[in-house]
Amino acid sequence: MNTALILGASRGLGLGLARELAARGWHVTGTVRKEADEAALAAVGAVVELADITDPASLAALHGRIAPGLDLLFINAGIAGPRDADAATGEDVATLFMTNAVAPIQAARHLLDRLAPDGMLAFMSSRMGSVAGNTEGGMELYRASKAALNSLTRSLVAGLDHPRPVLTLHPGWVQTDMGGAGADLDVPTSVRGLVEVILAHRGRPGSAFLDYSGATLPW
Ligand code: NAP
Repeated sequence: MNTALILGASRGLGLGLARELAARGWHVTGTVRKEADEAALAAVGAVVELADITDPASLAALHGRIAPGLDLLFINAGIAGPRDADAATGEDVATLFMTNAVAPIQAARHLLDRLAPDGMLAFMSSRMGSVAGNTEGGMELYRASKAALNSLTRSLVAGLDHPRPVLTLHPGWVQTDMGGAGADLDVPTSVRGLVEVILAHRGRPGSAFLDYSGATLPW
């Protein structure tokens, strides 16, 4: 049976990914930050663990509870942060960049030895993290945090001693708490596409920046 660990699966896209993979027969473990969110994740058929990706102690505890041999480690957790740079405090910026860029890479490196030899890594980035694609501005700090994540995923790939697929993914603009009700896509459509993209890249080591339809995005 295929196995996946999804970090940040309490709601939105992470919960949707857990539901989609479980429905396809995968053994899914997902993480939530609050005990109150455990029931919703368990209801989609996932094993539930508690973890905050910005908390090294919680990642260390999680590591001890995950059996080796994962086919997929999907790091989905993210926050929107302050709308623009002008009024942002140092604390706002630290929280945003830690959550969206640095902690995902720390978590990936920490859990790398839980992946099967041909296991894949996936990061939930955003089209907004494309430096080349930034012609319209807006959400400038969020964009910058995802651009930092994209750069860090490339550094991670460059430093791997064992080549494996590492996907940096854009889910589309999706109706979640973050995306808002007016977004283009519903969660099932986005996660169905993301899972197809993941399956299509099995056994293809190296980094790629792709959207939910499989289209390549400019870094
Ligand atoms: P969401 O509904 O706001 O969900 C965010 C998820 O991240 C929640 O499960 C949240 O857990 C978790 N999370 C946040 N900080 C965390 C931390 N420190 N440790 C562990 N989990 C943490 O947003 P979403 O739309 O599903 O977004 C999921 C990912 O997709 C994010 O990385 C986001 O940047 C990206 N994305 C979304 C869109 C979109 O249109 N929706 C577009 C592009 C990219 P709690 O419930 O505990 O807060």
